Amino acid sequence: MVKVDVKYTKLFINNEWVDAVSKKTFPTINPQDESIITHVAEGDKADIDIAVSAAVKAFHRYSEWRKLDASQRGRLLLKLADLIERDVEYLGQLETLDNGKPVANAIGEAGWSAQIIRYYAGKADKILGNTIPADGEVLSMTIKEPVGVCGQILPWNYPIPMFVWKIAPALAAGCTLVIKPAEQTPLTALALAALVKEAGFPPGVVNVVPGYGPTAGAALTNHPRVDKMAFTGSTEVGRIIMSGAPSVNLKRVTLELGGKSPLVIFNDADVDKAAEIAHRAAFSNAGQCCVAATRTYVQSGIYDAFIAKAAEIAKKRTVGNPYTDVQQGPQIDQEMFSKVMGYIKAGKEQGARCVAGGDRIGKVGFFIQPTVFADVKDDMKIAREEIFGPVQSILKFETFDEVVDRANDSNYGLGAGVITKDITVALAFVKHVRAGSVWVNTYEHVTPQTPFGGFRESGIGREMGEEGILQYLENKTVTISVPKQPTF
Ligand code: NAD
Repeated sequence: MVKVDVKYTKLFINNEWVDAVSKKTFPTINPQDESIITHVAEGDKADIDIAVSAAVKAFHRYSEWRKLDASQRGRLLLKLADLIERDVEYLGQLETLDNGKPVANAIGEAGWSAQIIRYYAGKADKILGNTIPADGEVLSMTIKEPVGVCGQILPWNYPIPMFVWKIAPALAAGCTLVIKPAEQTPLTALALAALVKEAGFPPGVVNVVPGYGPTAGAALTNHPRVDKMAFTGSTEVGRIIMSGAPSVNLKRVTLELGGKSPLVIFNDADVDKAAEIAHRAAFSNAGQCCVAATRTYVQSGIYDAFIAKAAEIAKKRTVGNPYTDVQQGPQIDQEMFSKVMGYIKAGKEQGARCVAGGDRIGKVGFFIQPTVFADVKDDMKIAREEIFGPVQSILKFETFDEVVDRANDSNYGLGAGVITKDITVALAFVKHVRAGSVWVNTYEHVTPQTPFGGFRESGIGREMGEEGILQYLENKTVTISVPKQPTF
């Protein structure tokens, strides 16, 4: 077992490391061997109150943070990106300890996160309003201003990128933040908080309070001094936030939620290449990906060949110790492990044909075989519900209209993909599928420049790209009397 030094386990408030008011701690578990890695300070309402007060103070009109030039906010973000790059190996090792993802992936995600910060660093001094030819003897313009104190609640599946997706646009916009990382993966959020301090962000601008959802998360959501909530996680908790947060003070809410994304493969596709794309789309991050393409629709002409290839690739997928050169580590925890195994059982019971995997691996740790189901029907649980594990459901289709109807027959609408050599088919699919991101002959290509988010129950608002920073800005309209003919 690799030894990783866990340096930070306390709450990060006002650039200080503090115990929880209650003095309580909670364990964080290594999903590889189910051992306790360490205990982390457990924030709840009392700590959220203190953190929000720090963020309110840091947002005061004459605070050090508010008096910075926009370009200086950009400089601080650039410094943070450099520090993440300096520590990329350590952050990756720590992430693997807490989350279980293969260490090469974790290091890659940390490096990618530095790129996201740089993208938003460049935006800090390019936040532009408009001048408007308003009616009357006036000059009108809009000024974009930071929305204020933001609460940000994170999931456990991509802890470093999710932290950065949230903080980078918010800090570029000039907001102050209270972040609650997922209880399963608090460690890298705290290590990143240390880098925020080292980069030189003033006290109170970024506060990180680990804790549980119904306590710390709910306190943040319902806090009257929080101006906006940004949440990534399950649709179930998204609903709780949507019903709670605005009712307190009409705070703004953006949500990045779950999905059941379709990937549609037409007869003219190269079967080997399509099966590779579909495999990565379903299995990346052990299937713990909101945009995972877990409904693979394959046209009848290539269906049998595709199933054979999909099963072959899944059987070769390497699963094991995430500190070694594997493609897949354990699932995040006992709860998710049991949930995914329950879906595999349901797939078998409901008559889907299991052509690869279908069982756990070993007796200790949350490892699951890459599992492929063929002959899946639209009404089966594994075709309708988000599994969030290494399970691919393959469904047969005949015609374009049939598959578009079936792809859209979901409450979700996060991602979708199409594989075909025919550009008219691809563009028709792009036009008619109901999803926030559509990929053609590729999948899950997400970049700092491209907005990401969902239709329908997959979310509200967008992260990344220009859209991502707009969610942290208010619009102020200014109208100035300017007589058409001066009287002086
Ligand atoms: P989750 O919703 O259980 O937890 C997410 C976060 O919400 C955690 O920090 C948790 O502590 C907090 N939380 C739980 N209950 C809360 C409450 N009552 N009030 C406030 N906060 C609360 O989800 P998860 O298990 O961490 O992640 C898996 C889910 O997240 C999947 O459904 C997945 O699709 C979704 N997800 C979506 C995206 C996206 O970008 N759309 C990205 C990653 C994950």
